[in-house]
Amino acid sequence: MTRTLAPATIAAKADHYVDEISGGIIPPVNTSTTFARDTANQPMNAAHVYARDNNPTFVQAERVLATLENGEQALLFASGMAAIAAVFYTLDSGAHVVLPDSMYWGVFSWTRQYCARTSITVSYYSPQDVDSLRDALRGRERTDLVWVETPANPMMHITDIRLAAELSHAAGAVLVVDNTVSTPLLTRPLELGADIVMHSASKSLNGHSDVMAGALVTRGDHPHWQRIVSERHDAGAIISPFDASQLLRGMRTLALRVERACENTARIAEFLQQHDGVEVVMYPGLTSHPGHDIARRQMSGGYGSLLSFQVRGDKAATLAVLGRLQLIIRATSLGGVETLVEHRHSIEPAETRLPENLLRLAVGIEDVNDLIRDLDQALVQPG
Ligand SMILES: *Cc1c(COP(=O)(O)O)cnc(C)c1O
Repeated sequence: MTRTLAPATIAAKADHYVDEISGGIIPPVNTSTTFARDTANQPMNAAHVYARDNNPTFVQAERVLATLENGEQALLFASGMAAIAAVFYTLDSGAHVVLPDSMYWGVFSWTRQYCARTSITVSYYSPQDVDSLRDALRGRERTDLVWVETPANPMMHITDIRLAAELSHAAGAVLVVDNTVSTPLLTRPLELGADIVMHSASKSLNGHSDVMAGALVTRGDHPHWQRIVSERHDAGAIISPFDASQLLRGMRTLALRVERACENTARIAEFLQQHDGVEVVMYPGLTSHPGHDIARRQMSGGYGSLLSFQVRGDKAATLAVLGRLQLIIRATSLGGVETLVEHRHSIEPAETRLPENLLRLAVGIEDVNDLIRDLDQALVQPG
């Protein structure tokens, strides 16, 4: 499938599948763990020997994702964290990596523990400040990997991917971009110079909060990628065929869902910004956002469905707002069709530096007026 087709077409057509046996236009879920060999002991299909190597059901979802990201190859994993771990498992001890100091908590916490245990040096940079990335790379004997997450969850910092790619490559490092929050519909990091894109496909790509999946997509076939391919094969953090099939189905409506969720989020951001009960709204689509100009350059078609805001009041007042929400569900995660809210401060461990009055909204595809009414009644103090 060529990238000359628009992303909405690529996603909806899901690789133009027609089943050779039945003519069915939806691929069957192939649950076989092993594949037969012919009388000369050769695999009947060279790509399929054992299900940890490969499975026809997830190969199709991988092709769709690789095309959407304009990459050469994609690999699905059992979760977003499994995909991230596969990247780090390929680093040698003594390696140096550069990570943002504000990012998705699970990645921050796991990489810190893993790198300490394996003698990998970590330097941190502020994701909204490119000079701090320069500083983190300066005067180092080596840097193996730079990590970017943009927009960064949940503070919504924006990092300039093109600039990060130039700095990383000048230092001889591979640039990996976590594109979970943006999706390939809004940002394509490989086109901006990144080497590898990572997704928690449990979020917008699947879109229905019913699959755990992760993905890596590469721009080209470099030695680092070959190590990742072996890592998935040998350590075996593969996606289940059923989840791959659900993911392929979810991705068919990606363009519609992202478009609607972006519209809803922009409307909610404007509503919250004018509300007396709100101190500040963090959303890259707002012209008041410090990263707005960069976001406008590297995102197209919207600014995503994730937004944070700070309630005017203390922790108790913020938790009271949270408790009064009736339609919006209190739960972690993002990118689903239903709107979710989370008080990250009470979810992260005590060392968290997140504000106590911050609420994160993962906006879905409901009627935006219903969502705004729910937020309005929760923000207005009763009595
Ligand atoms: C959820 C998430 C992850 C982790 O992915 P899982 O599928 O939950 O393992 C990584 N990065 C970001 C930005 C996420 O939102």
